[in-house]
Amino acid sequence: MVFAAGRPVLAIPGPSPVPDRVLRAMHRAAPDIYAGELVEVNRRLMDDLRRLAGTRHNVACYIGNGHTGWQAALANLLRPGERALVLVSGLFGRGWAAAAEARGVAVEIMDCGTDAAPDPQRLADRLAQDRAGEIRVVMVCHVDTASGVRADLAALRAAMGDHPALFAVDAIASLGCEPLAMDDLGIDVLVSASQKGLMMAPGLAFVWFSERAGARAEPGFWDWHSRADAVEVWQFWGGTPPVQPIYGQVEALAMLLDDEGLPAVWARHEGLARATWAAVDAWAQGAGGIALNVAAPEARARAVTAVRWPGAERLRDWTRTRAGVTLGLGLGVEPPGSALRIAHMGHCSAHQLLGTLAVMQAGLMALGQPHGAGAMEAACAEIAARAGG
Ligand SMILES: *Cc1c(COP(=O)(O)O)cnc(C)c1O
Repeated sequence: MVFAAGRPVLAIPGPSPVPDRVLRAMHRAAPDIYAGELVEVNRRLMDDLRRLAGTRHNVACYIGNGHTGWQAALANLLRPGERALVLVSGLFGRGWAAAAEARGVAVEIMDCGTDAAPDPQRLADRLAQDRAGEIRVVMVCHVDTASGVRADLAALRAAMGDHPALFAVDAIASLGCEPLAMDDLGIDVLVSASQKGLMMAPGLAFVWFSERAGARAEPGFWDWHSRADAVEVWQFWGGTPPVQPIYGQVEALAMLLDDEGLPAVWARHEGLARATWAAVDAWAQGAGGIALNVAAPEARARAVTAVRWPGAERLRDWTRTRAGVTLGLGLGVEPPGSALRIAHMGHCSAHQLLGTLAVMQAGLMALGQPHGAGAMEAACAEIAARAGG
């Protein structure tokens, strides 16, 4: 029989659940875009986006998804023939590299594997060889959403030393979920989008850039400055502003920055991630091949957990059709269907995550897939210890 009636749960790593408050904020007729309230609301969005990223510098906004953000960063940062070094820990890093290559950039990939953080020493060694300073930009995903690997941005920045390359970071899956302060980390370019940790519908892409990176901006449609230094609301967006999404994103940022507060938001994601890991570790005991993809906790994302899982497709199908829980597809794994991902990003509560894990437990039992005992107990213990009495 089927237990899927009721509110479905989408536990895929983007798009993430949009809070009702955010949906309601968007439910309005289009306002005037040349004068009136929107001018102030748009200003507030720019200010709050800088607060979110921990920067006093600039933000340029685009209508589009994460791929749009990649393009907006690349178009300003790199000319055809120039060299970029891309640290790759999974499918998303590879995708960003491919986007650069398609623009004619001389891309050099440093393959960092998909189960451990990029090694800062390798980066330092490679840059030490580049005496002529040909590498213009070092690109890395803070979190590669496919593998669940998290890079140590502070260590990578330190490894760059005084090499003149700019440091460009894809934080699409991490911003709003775990600590990340652009200026403190010495990041020159930060890319993110609305639909993951930012708790908004897909459709807005953001690029924050330092003054040093800003000097490389390229005139044209993607030009950072024409947007970051805009006066009229439409100029911020290169045309008609996405009026309803502006209201939605402002509401979501108020929830993150003012209501819950970023330290509490980060602590919540830490707890949700640890509960997930505890459950998976319990299932892995004595099970045929279930394992967290990333062994070292410090190298794991807090927004999504990737798990090697024989028979993943059967379980994903079961949780979706029998219990209304959609788990993330395993990306970039061999053989296909031998992994899954559990998203705990954005607007995610203990009830949502523990419900998801419990449904997975039920699926394991129903399908007779081998698994260790005690997963629910272990996950609940993580939440209990953090929530306190
Ligand atoms: C989701 C994601 C992207 C791509 O974003 P789209 O909105 O699908 O274009 C890029 N990088 C990372 C790290 C992501 O998580």
